[in-house]
Amino acid sequence: MIIGIDDTDSRKGMCTTYLCAVLVDELKKYGFGEVSTPGLVRLNPCVPFKTRGNGAVSFEIEISVEKERKEKEVKEVVKARVSELSELSEEETNPGVVFIDDRALNVIGGEKRENDSEEMLKNFYENAVREVLTIEDAYELISNLHFDYFGLKNKRGIIGALAAASFLVLQKSKPNYYDFTYELMAYRRKERWGTSRFIDEASVWKADKATYPITWDTVDRGEEKIVFAPHSPCPVLFGIRGDSVDAIYKAYEFIHAEPVERKMLFVTNQGTDFHLIKLEDAKETLQDYHSYILDGMVSSNPQTIEGGHVVFSISLSEKVSGSIECIAYEPTKGFRAIIRKLRVGDEITVFGSLKKKTLNLEKIEIRELNPVTERNPKCEKCGRTMKSAGRLQGYRCKRCGTYSADKDKVIVDRGIEEGLYEVPPVARRHISKPLVRMRMRMEGVNKEIHPSR
Ligand code: ATP
Repeated sequence: MIIGIDDTDSRKGMCTTYLCAVLVDELKKYGFGEVSTPGLVRLNPCVPFKTRGNGAVSFEIEISVEKERKEKEVKEVVKARVSELSELSEEETNPGVVFIDDRALNVIGGEKRENDSEEMLKNFYENAVREVLTIEDAYELISNLHFDYFGLKNKRGIIGALAAASFLVLQKSKPNYYDFTYELMAYRRKERWGTSRFIDEASVWKADKATYPITWDTVDRGEEKIVFAPHSPCPVLFGIRGDSVDAIYKAYEFIHAEPVERKMLFVTNQGTDFHLIKLEDAKETLQDYHSYILDGMVSSNPQTIEGGHVVFSISLSEKVSGSIECIAYEPTKGFRAIIRKLRVGDEITVFGSLKKKTLNLEKIEIRELNPVTERNPKCEKCGRTMKSAGRLQGYRCKRCGTYSADKDKVIVDRGIEEGLYEVPPVARRHISKPLVRMRMRMEGVNKEIHPSR
């Protein structure tokens, strides 16, 4: 049976991954059956209902004897823990649980493939990462596939729960279909929740040094900050993200910190960029709350606005024409220095989420720099720079009276290379792919990749 869970936490406490870890440990302890490495999926990072990283969890329990009775008991344990541990007093916490029991799984995995159920789950998972769904969308699929579910309050969590369960179904039937990574989460003892975390920073830098880039986003070198621990009152002490389980456990061994109540390894879609919609898959009009990869040409030079944010426009090529504003927010720190170097005429690809018709940048590829810049012309006689003779009236040398209708075009050194650039770890979303992963995986081998580190 595969079980998906979501929406149990609030900004004031709890974490759905912790609830999952408690359940997995409990079910293992009481010998209900073999429990898989749980899944942690990050869903659409733009949905307004999210608490933090829009995460949802799932795990599989394999029951070999007395299936029906034990499945029933497991469901009761899950419902009890979700009811007991969820932050129900918070308005925005609306827990949901989805059970895909063995009968349903056999239909999905078997020859019959009624209504191509696996395809339906695949679509639901992908839409939960890229689109905005309704609770009715989840109910419809749950009812079509005869799944059991449980929810509290408005039960919105069943969207994430069904998506997380679908992810595991697909991982099981097509293990390498989706890119995936791992995160090892360490949890605090209950009496410490809400207090400041004790983590020996030097040990974290050592852990990073010994295992980067197979582990990533543990520290931010540019900002000299540790980024693997939250600052919220939740039960998470820290999480180590990476591509290899061995490297993650190696990093874990380096870390000196307060005592850990428990730890749990998750297989995740973090660091994969799965939220980004490619142009060929995009609808004709770009939609808010969706994340895209778009090609275009810089059509206005970047400007720093109040708050330190940097904005510029691009004219879009191909399917979606028109222009769009892009923004690198202040928290993206050093990434803004790259953005400020863009100039009108540069051919770029932007990666990010659309909110209020503005693309919030996560990455950028400079495909072709425009080496030509326009300057006021120089006077042929005295060599001084001419001044504008008035709007649309050309340029004139005040001293010699010489005239030129147009600006001079000169080739300049742009002081930046073509290639891919990214926001630093302090500003990175869980689901965004660090460029160092692209480099390790030899993606875009013909492209220059400039990881923030
Ligand atoms: P944390 O990261 O701390 O676990 P969170 O950011 O995951 O918290 P949730 O408390 O899980 O936030 O709330 C997200 C809510 O949004 C859930 O109810 C989930 O079902 C729902 N949701 C997730 N993805 C989508 C989507 N694509 N469309 C509509 N609703 C969604």
